[in-house]
Formats: sequence, C-alpha cells, structure tokens
Amino acid sequence: MLKIKDLNVSISNKQILKDFNLEINEGEIHVIMGTNGVGKSTLVKTLSDHYDCEVHSGQIEFKGKDLLELDASQRANEGIFMSFQNPVEVHGVNNMYFLKTAVNEKRAYQNQEEVNSAQFLKEVKDIIKEYNLSDEIIKRNVNEGFSGGEKKKNEMLQLLVLKPDLIMLDEIDSGLDIDAIKLVAKAVNSMLDGKRSVLMITHYDRLLELIRPDFVHILKDGKIIKSGDYNLALEVQKNGFEAVGS
Ligand code: ADP
Ligand code: MG
Ligand code: MG
Repeated sequence: MLKIKDLNVSISNKQILKDFNLEINEGEIHVIMGTNGVGKSTLVKTLSDHYDCEVHSGQIEFKGKDLLELDASQRANEGIFMSFQNPVEVHGVNNMYFLKTAVNEKRAYQNQEEVNSAQFLKEVKDIIKEYNLSDEIIKRNVNEGFSGGEKKKNEMLQLLVLKPDLIMLDEIDSGLDIDAIKLVAKAVNSMLDGKRSVLMITHYDRLLELIRPDFVHILKDGKIIKSGDYNLALEVQKNGFEAVGS
C-alpha cells in the first residue's frame, strides 16, 4: 500500500524527518507515537501534500504510484484520507455540498459518473442515524462553529462517505470524551476490510484498545527508533518515551 524510503522533510527550513523509512501493507494498522514536536504530524502532512512540508529527498510509493508526483487532491482521489489534528473551518461552504463534491471529484477521477443525489442523501442520513450524529451536521457549513468533538465527528462522516484506502488519523482522540472515542473507533473499524490500511497518531491507549494496531512505532530524531506491537504502546503508557526509547 505505502512505501516510504529515506524521506527527508523540513518545515520552515528546519529538518524534521531524516532518512525516514516505513512500509504499510494492505490491511495493516500502524501507530506512530512520540514526544511533542518530534514530527508525527509532519509525517502525515507530508503524505497528504501539506504546503508546510518541504520534501528534499526520498521516495513515497502509494499503490505502486509515485506519490510525490501527485498533488493533494490527486492523492485524496487516489484514496488517501487525512483527519487533521485541527480540522479547519471552511466558511460559507455547506457541509452536505462539500461531502457530495468530494465524493464526485473522486468518482470523476476514477471515470465514474456522479452519485445520484437522492441516494447519496440517503446514505449520509443513514450514517447520521447509525452514529447518532445531529441532523444539523449536514445543514451547517464545514466545521464552522463546530466544537472540537463535532469537528472530529465530521471527519468521521467524511471518512465513511469517501471510503479511502489509506486512513490517516492525527490525534483524532485528543480532547474527545469516551463516547466520541467509541464513535471514532466504530467508524474506523467499520472501514476495515482486510484491504484498507490505517496510519494513526495517538498518545493514548484508550483508542488503541478499540482499534487494535498491528504495529506501533516510536518516532525520535526524525526516524523510527523502535517498532513493536500493541505491547509497545502499553509500555510507553506505563514507563514513558524516555525509558522505552533508550
Ligand atoms: P508532532 O506532531 O510530533 O507534535 P509536528 O510534526 O507538528 O510535531 O512538528 C515538528 C516540528 O516542526 C516542531 O518543532 C514544530 O514546532 C515545527 N513546526 C510544525 N509546523 C510548523 C510551521 N508551520 N512553522 C514552523 N515550524 C513548524
Ligand atoms: Mg502533531
Ligand atoms: Mg508540495
């Protein structure tokens, strides 16, 4: 699914990722952990072509394609989904219109015809019902005035309609109450079909209890210094990064 080789990335002329390597196969769930400011967000922002991130060298292959050749919207249309640590408010853009446009963009990219409006509305309403979301979520503008929790739920609504191949979640659980964390886990788990992959950043094992990772990686000094399974996350929770990383 994803092959990152010797990736060097800087932000504001400061090198953040240094000869970074990571491979994610179909169906795998990977977690990146690390202290604040170590470059976790930089990694997923780089993968989604965020303008902050400058790639100096290295390769990123996604489903056999050279990802660095693709811009942000092409990457999304290829099946990369990014849930930002701080989802932006898009003022004046109706959320339902936004969702439908995103889905139709992806379909056009794959030479499929536009979604049937009535069918799509039903699909979205079914999700709203199943996940106990407010009906208002599709009537309002994208994230405008949403609480932190509502923004994260809206990210999950996008996930559920876009059905991406690679799901990237940047601290989706920070600031969420346990019910909202359960909603996130339900949405992500519903997407897992043995083919879709997940790249998740989190500090807490609450989410990892609900979305069980196959691999946990510790990021330090621009690269992965230790990899393990779920137990590594538990070890970090118990003893902290310093003890685990040394
Ligand atoms: P993490 O997600 O691991 O906490 P980030 O990837 O967000 O860390 O940030 C890595 C480093 O890059 C930090 O030192 C951070 O302050 C810096 N950084 C991130 N974004 C910017 C920016 N837009 N301008 C300048 N420095 C930035
Ligand atoms: Mg971050
Ligand atoms: Mg770029």
